[in-house]
Amino acid sequence: MYAIAIHGGAGGLPAQGLSAARQQRYRDGLAAALEQGYQHLAHGASSLEAVTAAVRALEDDPLFNAGHGAALTRDGGAELDAAVMDGSTLRAGAVAAVRHVKHPIELARRVMEKSRHVLLVGSGAEEFALEEGVELVPNTYFRTAERQAELEQLRDGGTVSELIPSPQGTVGAVARDAAGNLAAATSTGGMANKRPGRVGDSPIIGAGTYAKNGVCAVSATGHGEYFMRLVAGHHVCALVEYRGVSLAEAVRETLHERLRALGGDGGIIAVDTDGRISLDFTTQGMFRAARDSTGMHQIAI
Ligand code: ASP
Repeated sequence: MYAIAIHGGAGGLPAQGLSAARQQRYRDGLAAALEQGYQHLAHGASSLEAVTAAVRALEDDPLFNAGHGAALTRDGGAELDAAVMDGSTLRAGAVAAVRHVKHPIELARRVMEKSRHVLLVGSGAEEFALEEGVELVPNTYFRTAERQAELEQLRDGGTVSELIPSPQGTVGAVARDAAGNLAAATSTGGMANKRPGRVGDSPIIGAGTYAKNGVCAVSATGHGEYFMRLVAGHHVCALVEYRGVSLAEAVRETLHERLRALGGDGGIIAVDTDGRISLDFTTQGMFRAARDSTGMHQIAI
């Protein structure tokens, strides 16, 4: 069997709620990305291909906080983080604080496959993108009117220390392919109104992104500082591997007990070695979708 799950971020919903039309746009965006990933699995491609394709689709969708439509730094720029991990080899690639890479997940994949490193940041990552022929764009490509408005709202009401998880958050995907290989990918603009240079959990292997064959694959979203301190993605897999609990229980304990105890909030999507999927969050909502070859198919906010 094969299975894939994706998320488009977790957070508080606007006080007035999301309009029906807007909800539909989110559902359409999630459905399109899920389909991209699922079709790869259905055609026998690896979980690595599936998660990369799904995340790439979400990076192109301005509704989500990754690629075009990324949340902005307090200076009004975009700084993007992304990571991918191949559970079959425990190889991983990540980039952080890149400002000109159209698809950060593509660059993370190149870091994994074409460099001797796991994490490249800033100008060094972009130099590598140039060498690899990865598409570069002006920083203004990422900025949308909505993100500009969000930033102004945060600037008016909050200080830098009052970062809130964006309701249109980070994107990620986890998958199990027909051969049993697990993979995870995450991409984000990070927290809105962040200080330039801030890096979140998404590109930190073991924090926001983790995959290990025979155990599970995890992609997180939420207040990254807490996910980093908990090493949340690895924490979920460690509970499954060492304590032998179910994936659902491992995700529940990580989010609702450990993360909450630190004061953090967010969500996790995960898949285990049998293709069982867990989608859980401590926030009001999480944009999420999942599908497997047994007929399970869901999209939810
Ligand atoms: N986890 C991301 C970060 O802290 C933000 C998010 O998921 O919305 O960078």
